[in-house]
Amino acid sequence: MVIEWASESYLFTCKLCGEQWREVYQVRNVTDLDGDVWSFYRHDDQPCETPTAAENLCPRCHCGPVRVSRVSRSVPAWR
Ligand SMILES: [Zn+2]
Repeated sequence: MVIEWASESYLFTCKLCGEQWREVYQVRNVTDLDGDVWSFYRHDDQPCETPTAAENLCPRCHCGPVRVSRVSRSVPAWR
C-alpha cells in the first residue's frame, strides 16, 4: 500500500455572478494492493469531499452553480 500526500489548489468560478476564488486542499492518495487509488481530501484540517464533487456555494451570491478546476498540485517536501 502506497500513501502519497499532495497539496492541490483549486479555482472556483461562480457561473451566476462570475466571482472567483481559490482554495488549497491537502490530498492523501492511497494505492491499495489491487492498484486502486483512493483519494482523501482535507480542507482547514477537516476531512471533506472531493472539491469537484462537493456542492459548492458562491461566497458572494450564496448561489451557484460553481465551476471547479484544479490549478496546481505539489508534493510537499516534508513528506
Ligand atoms: Zn456567485
